[in-house]
Amino acid sequence: MADLILFWHRRDLRLADNLALTAARQRSPQVVGVFCLDPGLLQRDDVAPARVAYMIGCLAELEQRYAEAGGSFVIIQGDPTQTMPALAQALGAAAVYWNRDVEPYSRQRDKAVVDALKEIGVGFETRFWDQLLHAPGEVLTGAGQPYTVYGPFWKNWIRQAKADPLPAPSGFTPLSEAQLQSAQAAGCLPLPSAQDLGFGWDQGFPIEPGERAALARLTEFCDDDRLIGTYDDQRNFPAVEGTSRLSAALKFGAIGIRTVWAAATEAYDRCRSDEARQQVQTWQQELAWREFYQHVLHAFPTLADGPYRPQWHTFPWENNADHFAAWCEGRTGYPIVDAAMRQLNETGWMHNRCRMIVASFLTKDLIINWQWGEKYFMQTLVDGDLAANNGGWQWSASSGMDSKPLRIFNPASQAQKFDPDADYIRQWVPELRSLDTQVLVTGNIPQPICGHLGYPTPIVDHNIQQALFKEKYKAQKG
Ligand SMILES: Cc1cc2nc3c(=O)[nH]c(=O)nc-3n(C[C@H](O)[C@H](O)[C@H](O)COP(=O)(O)OP(=O)(O)OC[C@H]3O[C@@H](n4cnc5c(N)ncnc54)[C@H](O)[C@@H]3O)c2cc1C
Repeated sequence: MADLILFWHRRDLRLADNLALTAARQRSPQVVGVFCLDPGLLQRDDVAPARVAYMIGCLAELEQRYAEAGGSFVIIQGDPTQTMPALAQALGAAAVYWNRDVEPYSRQRDKAVVDALKEIGVGFETRFWDQLLHAPGEVLTGAGQPYTVYGPFWKNWIRQAKADPLPAPSGFTPLSEAQLQSAQAAGCLPLPSAQDLGFGWDQGFPIEPGERAALARLTEFCDDDRLIGTYDDQRNFPAVEGTSRLSAALKFGAIGIRTVWAAATEAYDRCRSDEARQQVQTWQQELAWREFYQHVLHAFPTLADGPYRPQWHTFPWENNADHFAAWCEGRTGYPIVDAAMRQLNETGWMHNRCRMIVASFLTKDLIINWQWGEKYFMQTLVDGDLAANNGGWQWSASSGMDSKPLRIFNPASQAQKFDPDADYIRQWVPELRSLDTQVLVTGNIPQPICGHLGYPTPIVDHNIQQALFKEKYKAQKG
């Protein structure tokens, strides 16, 4: 009889282009997909309802995909260091396979699961770095060290050969009735809704959950010269749908990174001019930013807990709770900041340019610890991802590895440049719709008009706060 293998899905919620799953299927047709609802993750205080709902949507499709491929997929709930070995034992599994992850929590958890499997004599296979084009340790400086600056990382990363996507495995053998009963006895349960888990979300997604929607969006984005072909020109304008919106799919692995890279490479190879190639390469550079932040988190796990630059540990933040609440709710009196925060609250997603604007505003104008913002993003973002979010926040706060130490965005100049017709502001701050574009982008709304429209006057003065921040920064640097 063929070995029974448990395949533990975590951030690879798909069949196609999945390294460890393909290896498991090569070993045996009786591969059983399993997803563990881990209270260690779901009961944290930074879980976004949109993210859980997206994940559940992906799992629902995954269950269907296994059934179509002849196999079985089960859900288990509880601490994986206990549930995974218990399930493996209940089903008489020969081994458990999974893809590796960079996050400190996952690494510790996986080590504990390996130890528990060893104890009961069940095999394991954990060699595969499925979520990255290059594994941590593969892209190093000349001195063999991890990069701490993106520019040289990119130059090295882009030069290295990248693997091709893998087809979805097929021809699985399903669990028998008796095995299903054993799985149920070991705690397997039907897939709950996000609502059942305490995370109601009915405000939609940037793209629908699941492997099919992610692939359809990738194809739409990369095959259309008006999308990837204008990415460099359009990506900074939040009123334009100029980006791929694949971030949640990449976070949960609804799409394989090799599949994404192959589509980008095809688009690049179709280009007939340097200018056209530049549009595509800028998108490839964003994919490399994703890898860069995962590599640095893997090399420096303490980034998850605080600033990279030591002087930031004692930075004298003001941490005004009322200002923080106003920022979260999109009522700072700065139209571009409020538009962005309302987009986040209403959709679970925010445009990258606006993530940078609101992060700069929180840290440099409100002088609030970037970790408050980092956590609020995790509590709301559909694509919330430790490595990318932490990297983005440390970049914006100037506490990270970025070579340019101090970067302060002026909300008015940002709005004038990137939302010149105020379309984005009008979309997300409807009470301001009737005002002139010039008033909206500069944010100079006369006080009586604010009162009349029920819109706040600015909670701080950008020029005063910027000077104050610089003073604190200088004193801190010594
Ligand atoms: C303060 C801050 C917080 C952020 N938090 C997150 C987060 O939690 N999760 C997340 O996926 N991205 C985060 N980003 C990065 C970026 O804003 C989003 O990846 C992007 O807006 C997602 O939209 P898209 O899929 O249309 O991106 P596209 O522009 O189409 O880019 C393609 C893909 O590249 C990756 N990517 C793009 N930009 C970055 C970047 N700067 N860093 C890392 N990866 C990138 C994403 O996977 C994205 O889906 C953050 C940025 C900032 C400034």
